Amino acid sequence: MKMVVCENCGSTEIVDMGGFRMCSYCRTRYLLQQSDAVPRASHMALNDDIARLLQKCRENPREASRYANLILDIDPNNAEARRYL
Ligand SMILES: [Zn+2]
Repeated sequence: MKMVVCENCGSTEIVDMGGFRMCSYCRTRYLLQQSDAVPRASHMALNDDIARLLQKCRENPREASRYANLILDIDPNNAEARRYL
């Protein structure tokens, strides 16, 4: 985890609250970066979800754009999902 400095008061006492971080001095909240917030295991689970949703796109073309939007919620740059929009 990289060093975090509070933008509000300059404190380095940033507490990880799980899902977000909070400055223990001024209580400013910081949302975690996507790459910090998603541990490796659940990141792989997301890739599984994407693979499953892509499969649904192929099997169910009428619903493909709906599934594609779900994929793009997870991975906005997914080129294959964009083709189904
Ligand atoms: Zn602060």
